[in-house]
Amino acid sequence: MSSSPITYESVIGLEVHIQLNTCSKAFSSEANVFELSPNLNISAVTLGLPGTLPRANKEHVEKSLHLALALGCDIPQQTRFDRKNYFYPDLPKGYQITQDKNPIGKGGSWTFTTGDVERTIRIHHIHMEEDAGKSNHELSSVQSLIEYNRAGTPLVELVTEPDFRTGQEVYDFLTSLQQLVQYLGISDGNMEEGSIRCDCNVSIRPAGSPILGERCEIKNVNSRRFAREAIAYEAKRQEEVLTAGSIIERTTLLFDSEKGTTHPMRKKEGENDYRYFPEPDLSPIQIDDNWVQRIKAELSILPSEAMAKLIGWGVPKEDAEKISSNKQWYLYFAELVQDHALPATALSSMVVNKLLPYAENQNMELSAVLSPIQIEEVITLYNSGKVGKSDVFSVLLPALMQSPQNNVEELAQALNLVISVEASDLLPLIEKVLMQNPDKVKEYQNGKKGLLGFFMGQVKQSAGLALDVGTLKSLLEEALNKSPSKN
Ligand code: ADP
Ligand code: MG
Repeated sequence: MSSSPITYESVIGLEVHIQLNTCSKAFSSEANVFELSPNLNISAVTLGLPGTLPRANKEHVEKSLHLALALGCDIPQQTRFDRKNYFYPDLPKGYQITQDKNPIGKGGSWTFTTGDVERTIRIHHIHMEEDAGKSNHELSSVQSLIEYNRAGTPLVELVTEPDFRTGQEVYDFLTSLQQLVQYLGISDGNMEEGSIRCDCNVSIRPAGSPILGERCEIKNVNSRRFAREAIAYEAKRQEEVLTAGSIIERTTLLFDSEKGTTHPMRKKEGENDYRYFPEPDLSPIQIDDNWVQRIKAELSILPSEAMAKLIGWGVPKEDAEKISSNKQWYLYFAELVQDHALPATALSSMVVNKLLPYAENQNMELSAVLSPIQIEEVITLYNSGKVGKSDVFSVLLPALMQSPQNNVEELAQALNLVISVEASDLLPLIEKVLMQNPDKVKEYQNGKKGLLGFFMGQVKQSAGLALDVGTLKSLLEEALNKSPSKN
C-alpha cells in the first residue's frame, strides 16, 4: 500500500530590529551617529563601567510609540525595562537593557500588498532595547576585534505572530515596513546598511494543519532578498529532514548568502538562560493618555493613506504605487496636484516617467530636480496651448531638467517650441500638400493610414515653425477624408 507524499506549508514569524534615528544613544548622551573610526563613539555609561547609571531617552520612547500607534498596538499605562543577561564580547555590560514583560506595545497588525493581494499579519508586541557592538573575525587571522561604536544604539524590536507562509510575503512585508518607518521619520529603514535586521523563525507543517511544527531561527538577516532565499532554503531542508523520517531540532542558524544555505550557529538556549529581571537602574515609564494623544496627533500620514489619496486624485495604480513608495515623492506630488492645473494622470506620468528617472539617475532629491513652482510654469505653458502638448513632455521638460536655472517660457522660445502657426494658417498648407501628393492621398483613402505621418511631416516642413501636432493631426485627418480625390 503506498501513501501519497505529504504536502507541507511553511510557517514564518519575524523578530525585526529597527535602529531609530534619535539624536543620542538609548541610555547615555553620546551622539547616535555612524562613526567610521572604531571605538570612538562609546561612553562609560554604554560600557557599563562601575559607578555609571543609564538614563532613558524620551526620543527613544516617542519614536517607539509612533511605530506602536501606526501598527495599532495597545499602549500600556506603564512600560518598564528589563535586563537580559548573557556573555558575549560585543556586549560590554554583560547584559542588554531590553523589555520583557511590559513592552511599549502589544498586539496590533499590519496590512501590506503581496503580488496582487493584501495580507494582514498580526503583531505580537514591540519593545525597546539597545543594540550591541560588533565582533570582527576577518581583519586579523589570530585575533577577534571588537567594535563598540554601535553599542547602545536605540532599537525598537517588532515581533510578529507566525503568520507568514512564504519568503515572498516576508520580502514584501519588509519592503512595506521599510516604507512605514521612513514615513514615520523614525529610522532611515535602510536594510543594506543594517538599519533593519531580522531574525526569521521558520517551521513547516502538513498543509492546512492547525498545529505548529518545531522551528529554527535564522539570525540577523540584513536584506529582504536574503530573507526570501534563506526561508526557501530552510523550508526545503526541513522537508527533507522530515521526509527522511527524522525530526526537526530547534536550532539557531546563520544564512550564508554566498552559498545560499543555512548552517547551525548554536542549539537554542532556553528562556531561563537569560535570567531576565527588571532593570534596577531605570524607573518604569508612565504613559498617560495626553502623551498618547499628542503622539497620535503628530503621527505622519501612512503609506496606505498616501496611496489612497493618489488613487482618489485619479493617479493610475502603478504610478500611485511608485509615488507613494517614498514620502518625499508623495509630498512633492501632493503639492503639485493641489492646483489641479493638469489632469492627475498627466502629472503623474510626468513625475514617474520624466522627473523620477532623472532624479534617480543623478542621485538627486526629486524636489531638487525642478521646484513645484517651475512645474507650475510648465503646466501653465502646457495649458496655454502655446507649445505642442507632446513637445512639453519630450523636449521642453528634459531640457529644463538639464538647465533648471532657465526661465520656462524663454527656454521654450529658444528651443523653437512656441507655436507660431495658427490653425487658420495650417489649412492652406495642408491643402497644398494634398494637392502635391494626389497618389498618396488615394493610397491613404484606400486604407494605408500609416501615410498620415508622411503628410504631417510635409506640412511641418513647409510651415517651418513649431505647431501643435494634435491640431495638425485632426485637421489633416479631416481634410484627407473629405478631399475631392476620394473615389
Ligand atoms: P522566543 O522569544 O523564544 O524566540 P517566541 O515564542 O517569542 O520565542 O517567538 C519568537 C518568534 O518566533 C515570533 O516571531 C513567533 O511568531 C515565531 N514563532 C513561534 N513559533 C513558531 C513556529 N512554530 N514556526 C515559526 N515561527 C514561530
Ligand atoms: Mg527570539
